[in-house]
Amino acid sequence: MTPAGWQLDGVPVLVVGGSAHALGEVVRLREQGAHVTVVADELAPALDDLVDRGLVQRGADVTEPELVAESRLVVDARTPDERAGGPDVRRLAREAGVPAYGVSGQDAASPGESGGSVVLVGGGPGHPGLLTRDGYAELLAADVVVTDRLAPVSLLADLPGDVEVIDVSKIPRGRFTPQQEINAILVREARAGRRVVRLKGGDSFVFGRGFEEVEACREAGVPVTVVPGVTSAVSVPELAGIPVTHRGVVQGFTVVSGHAAPDDPRSTVDWAALARVGTTIVVLMGVETLPAIARTLLDAGRAPETPVACVMDGGLPSMRVARSTLGRLVDDGLPDGMKPPAVTVIGEVAALG
Ligand code: SAH
Repeated sequence: MTPAGWQLDGVPVLVVGGSAHALGEVVRLREQGAHVTVVADELAPALDDLVDRGLVQRGADVTEPELVAESRLVVDARTPDERAGGPDVRRLAREAGVPAYGVSGQDAASPGESGGSVVLVGGGPGHPGLLTRDGYAELLAADVVVTDRLAPVSLLADLPGDVEVIDVSKIPRGRFTPQQEINAILVREARAGRRVVRLKGGDSFVFGRGFEEVEACREAGVPVTVVPGVTSAVSVPELAGIPVTHRGVVQGFTVVSGHAAPDDPRSTVDWAALARVGTTIVVLMGVETLPAIARTLLDAGRAPETPVACVMDGGLPSMRVARSTLGRLVDDGLPDGMKPPAVTVIGEVAALG
């Protein structure tokens, strides 16, 4: 579905598909002011009625070049049956330069024996606008949403009332659901025949334990797919105006977890090598360990004047940016009030923005 707030007054939109599934889409688009044309061999009765009443136009054939070219948005709302053997609608739209999206997810997992499936949706850093369209479409099609706290949780308000939401947030030093239990919930819900969306912060495969969830589903024979997300590693600095690379300044960036301090036996990061590698260092999960990280980088030869920017609650109304240097971090510790979640940028670019 199109995001709830969209205004499409007078915008010509082509919807491909005629089932009840397409109906909700067509009605939503009409409510948003769009002029909808629907293309399908057969129309569900209520769609037929809309066409009869002249509220929706009916197009003959989606492969007609004008039909796509004259639209400003194309929605593929076909069921898998309607799609079988039919044209590749997204490709037709792409060739005509018209944006398109599929409402049932072009690459959605085909349902398993129970009919259930799991899709891991990367939710971005928490601001609702930074969830991808595919992620949003999956969310709205879910029977169950298993969510984290750093995901764009305000969008859960858009869900129909009968959708079950399970909160498995891990709060640092607070309540948390063990990973094994999260895996078990995903498998249990999918085996019950439900369409499960696992809504995660950022991208599911960046420190998100997403691949463990994929493996658990595969082991259990549950179909599982992934919708990529906007990772906080890049987007949170960017929301503070900080580029992680900048021509003539720095040619790359390294993203590391600061969860284990450099002197912690669990740490596998060669911080001394990082100090020399000459790329921007982006630290996730490293608010408390930041002074220790700064000390290690200084000891390995990084200059005390090296700029540091710590961006807390990126993209949320409570967002805050604290600027410092490696030297000051070691001497004075963290700026007051900085607490997780935060992304820290270390390097020349941290002085920009
Ligand atoms: N998979 C996520 C990262 C999970 S680890 C991603 O790709 O973004 C959790 C860490 O992400 C937090 O400790 C913090 O470092 C960072 N983070 C996520 N959302 C954030 C936000 N809105 N603002 C600041 N940091 C954020």
